[in-house]
Amino acid sequence: MPVTKSPRLLLPDADISGPLFVGIDLGGTNIKAALVDGQGQMVAFHTEPTNVQNGPDDAAIRMGHSVELLAHCVGLARSDIAAVGLGTPGPQDLSTGVLLKPGNFPGWENFPVRDRVAEHCGHAVTYANDATAAAYGEFWVGSGRDDTSLILLTLGTGVGGGIIIHDMTIEGAHSHGSECGHIIVDSSPTARMCPCGQPGHLEAYASATALKARASERIRDGGVGTLADAVNQGEPLTPILIGNHAEQGDQLAMSLVMETADWLAIGIVTLMHTIDPSAIILGGAMTFGRDEHPVGRAFLDRIDTCIRRHTFPTLAKKTALRFATLGGHAGSIGAAGLGRLTWKQQNS
Ligand SMILES: [Zn+2]
Repeated sequence: MPVTKSPRLLLPDADISGPLFVGIDLGGTNIKAALVDGQGQMVAFHTEPTNVQNGPDDAAIRMGHSVELLAHCVGLARSDIAAVGLGTPGPQDLSTGVLLKPGNFPGWENFPVRDRVAEHCGHAVTYANDATAAAYGEFWVGSGRDDTSLILLTLGTGVGGGIIIHDMTIEGAHSHGSECGHIIVDSSPTARMCPCGQPGHLEAYASATALKARASERIRDGGVGTLADAVNQGEPLTPILIGNHAEQGDQLAMSLVMETADWLAIGIVTLMHTIDPSAIILGGAMTFGRDEHPVGRAFLDRIDTCIRRHTFPTLAKKTALRFATLGGHAGSIGAAGLGRLTWKQQNS
């Protein structure tokens, strides 16, 4: 049976006379669903645990049911929703709507997620990569709302990538376009191994997992300071811990953050020369407090300085670099936006 929890209504006075869209963001921990109006305003949202261990059919039922829950919370039926979008991690086959072999979802291989969710919500579903959906969210109503094109890098357990050019997503011929975390930044024989199984990829250097691995090695090799003391006394090593010690002036912690910035910059320079977007946006959990914190600002400044040193002069002068603004809602808002694009095409 579907788990019925109440969605949270954010805009009780929202004008719901226009078309409304639902975007669903499937993550390894949570399913997030957003009810969004035609201007990209989130009217309501609903979150529940993914419960990966219960298998994909259980989750598909609940994802489909979330459309009805969100419609009900503004007094509508699910048939009143104009369109539904869904973002999931890859690898996936977007043309057939199939999750291929998602890393954090054991037992979900080759699951036809798009069509199963469609069955349970009563709508055709527009299917996208989750990072692409987040990129579209930032492009539509977030940090990139005034840009004509952007690349979003999501910094978390891995490094996700999404590329939007005007209203177009870059999915590639085989649904593997925009895999920005897997561009090569180190081709040396000692390159770090990426979780995908290949050496030298950006994700192996600039994800939260990679930051923790580098920090752990430095402490093991005799690194000193308040961060090392905390870890040696048993505190769990996390990007937040590293960021906090960097903010308090610990040199080892700050050098680890700056190294992450340097690796990211190498990857970003390649992406700038490939796509030439109007903006590069950094999102995800590992952004060190973004603009609101000195470490976040130092992190962004370091990347900014490095990319401007290594790109063509026009790009160095004109390409914007900034943090994302939609936080954890980017994927669901973006998925709703991609559903809206399909709806617009069908109704034009
Ligand atoms: Zn990789």
